[in-house]
Amino acid sequence: MTGRRALIVGASSGIGAAVTEVFAGAGADVVAAGRRIHRLEGVAAGAAGLPGNVTPMELDVADEASARVGVAAAAEILGGLDVVVNNAGVMLSATVQTSDPAEWERMVRTNLLGTLHVSHAALPHLVASKGTLVQTSSTSGRTASAGSGVYAATKHGVNAFSEALRQEVAAQGVRVVVVEPGMVDTELADHLSDPTMRTLAAQMAGEIRVLDPKDVAETVLFAVTRPPHVSLNEILLRPTEQVR
Ligand code: NDP
Repeated sequence: MTGRRALIVGASSGIGAAVTEVFAGAGADVVAAGRRIHRLEGVAAGAAGLPGNVTPMELDVADEASARVGVAAAAEILGGLDVVVNNAGVMLSATVQTSDPAEWERMVRTNLLGTLHVSHAALPHLVASKGTLVQTSSTSGRTASAGSGVYAATKHGVNAFSEALRQEVAAQGVRVVVVEPGMVDTELADHLSDPTMRTLAAQMAGEIRVLDPKDVAETVLFAVTRPPHVSLNEILLRPTEQVR
C-alpha cells in the first residue's frame, strides 16, 4: 500500500477507523472522513507512528455538496485517489409498523444516497488511477429480515448500484468491491431508538463471538491489494457462529 492514496468515508469509529489504521499500517496515505471531527482527529493521532499519513476531514455524506467538495478536497490533499471506501452508515432498525419515517429517510440519505454521492464524485479520480471503490454493504444487502426492512432496502440498493457500476467501469480498469459483514462489534447499534431492537441487538451480540472491526478491515486490505487484474466483486463475512 506504500504510495497509495485512500479516502475512507465513515472513518471516525468502528469498521472505518479500523480500515484507516490497517491501511496506514500498510503504508497508504489516508484521508479519514466523517462528521465527528474530534473522533477523526483521535483516529489520526492513534495512527501517528504508522508508515502512512492520516488526515482527518469533516464530511457529511447525506449532504451532496459536502460529499462532492470533500472528495475533491481529499483528492487534492493526496494528489489523487487509488482507493475509496464508502463506509458511512446508520442502522435504525424497527418494524415497519413501529418505525418513524424520519429514521427511514436518515438511513436512505446516509447509506444509499451517501454512497451514490461519494461514488459519483470519486469516479473521475478512480478512472484516472484505475483504482478501487469499496462499498460497505451488509448481510442485510443479501437477505432482509423482520425489523430491518428499510436498513436492508438501503443495503440491497448499495449492492444493486455497485453491480451496475462495476459493469460500467470494468473496462476502464476500475474495481468495485462490495463487502458484506455480519455482526461487528462497533457503535452501530448504539443509535437504535427502538427499545425492542436495542435489547435484541445486545442479546445477539452477547450470544456469539462477533467480528472485530479489524477482521473486516483486514478483509478490505486483502481485496484492495490483489493484483490489478483480480477483482473481488463481493465478499460476505460472518462471525462463524452467526446463523442468519
Ligand atoms: P459505527 O457507528 O461505528 O460507524 C459508522 C460510521 O459512519 C461512523 O464513522 C460515522 O461517522 C459514519 N457516518 C454516519 N453518518 C454519516 C454521515 N452522514 N456522513 C459521514 N459519515 C457518516 O458503525 P460500523 O463501523 O459498524 O458501521 C460502518 C458500516 O458498516 C456501516 O455502513 C454499517 O451499515 C456497516 N455494517 C456494520 C455491521 C455491524 O454489525 N456493525 C454489519 C454490516 C454492515 P460520523 O458519525 O462521525 O459521521
